[in-house]
Amino acid sequence: MTLKDKQIIVLASRNKGKIQEISQILKSVLPDIQVKGLDEFPGIGDIPETGTTFEENALIKARTVARLTGLPAIADDSGIAVPALGGDPGVYSARYAGEQATDQENNHKLLEKMKNTSGKNRRAAFVCSMVAVTPDDHILSVRGEWPGLIAESPRGTMGFGYDPIFFDPELGLHAAEMTPEQKNSRSHRGKALKHLAADWPGFAQKIQKTEK
Ligand code: IMP
Repeated sequence: MTLKDKQIIVLASRNKGKIQEISQILKSVLPDIQVKGLDEFPGIGDIPETGTTFEENALIKARTVARLTGLPAIADDSGIAVPALGGDPGVYSARYAGEQATDQENNHKLLEKMKNTSGKNRRAAFVCSMVAVTPDDHILSVRGEWPGLIAESPRGTMGFGYDPIFFDPELGLHAAEMTPEQKNSRSHRGKALKHLAADWPGFAQKIQKTEK
């Protein structure tokens, strides 16, 4: 099989780490696909995340990219949800402490909001929604969740975002204390990707039918 015969899938992201992580897993189950990131489509600008759920935002991004490129597209949307705060920060995770907030500012705001909350009420979950869409609007939607607790204070230097204040009771570690392998094997994104890979063969048939 030549590169030309490969099915091209566009990932609705410019984040190199994310593109590599997703394409690695997809290629391990489907050697005949070629994954391209949005940086290979410079004409596509920022896509506003106007949805109120992770699923809506991922669908908006994947659908927009599939329409603009004429190729199947995959998008993800993720964040952290705290039941004691009515599901916040949720889809606003990246901008919890303000539009240009740093990870540190977001963590600080969440710790402040949780300062009078103890025990099981500190439950939280990282959530990742991943959606694939064909240009003629066939949809595959999967979700991964990583349950844990909001810690009392930050710990660890790995990862990003809320990792320093997310405690996984089964491993006894904050997410920012885990190696990438440990984190991938437990994370919301790792789980969503596994579901995506498992459901992909049925979805791929729809892509092929679309192309005939
Ligand atoms: P995105 O949808 O992947 O861009 O993630 C949105 C925001 O959710 C990020 O800016 C982080 O604040 C938070 N987030 C998502 N996944 C993780 C994670 O694995 N660790 C820590 N924070 C995360």
